[in-house]
Amino acid sequence: MDAALTRLIWQRAMDCCEYCQMPQVADDASFEIDHVIARKHGGPTATNNSCLSCYYCNSFKGSDIGSLDPKTRKLTPLFNTRRHKWARHFLWQGAYLLGRTPVGRVTVALLRINDEYRVELRDGLIEEGAFPPR
Ligand SMILES: [Zn+2]
Repeated sequence: MDAALTRLIWQRAMDCCEYCQMPQVADDASFEIDHVIARKHGGPTATNNSCLSCYYCNSFKGSDIGSLDPKTRKLTPLFNTRRHKWARHFLWQGAYLLGRTPVGRVTVALLRINDEYRVELRDGLIEEGAFPPR
């Protein structure tokens, strides 16, 4: 990926993971550029198919584009950072991220956004007044 495209993606995301909103400055693991729709599914390397992702979200997402809704067990697409509005699908309850929609629920579950160590990190940032970032 060329440097100009990478810079644009970081700026557009304001240096935060576009799934869990973690700021890079608060996370020891380096953030990565994610193909929203993975190349294996025909997703291009382009700004409208790219987002900034923390290491954890990107690792758990892999090349997946959907999963089973934990509530209904229906096959549901993951949150698409370029097509969906974050606030429509997610809601913070303290350091826990809740899915407001099937898309939100599958994304929180598959990306393991509420794993214990991630909740603990956000708890500390909330105490410092540094989270959520916007
Ligand atoms: Zn994340």
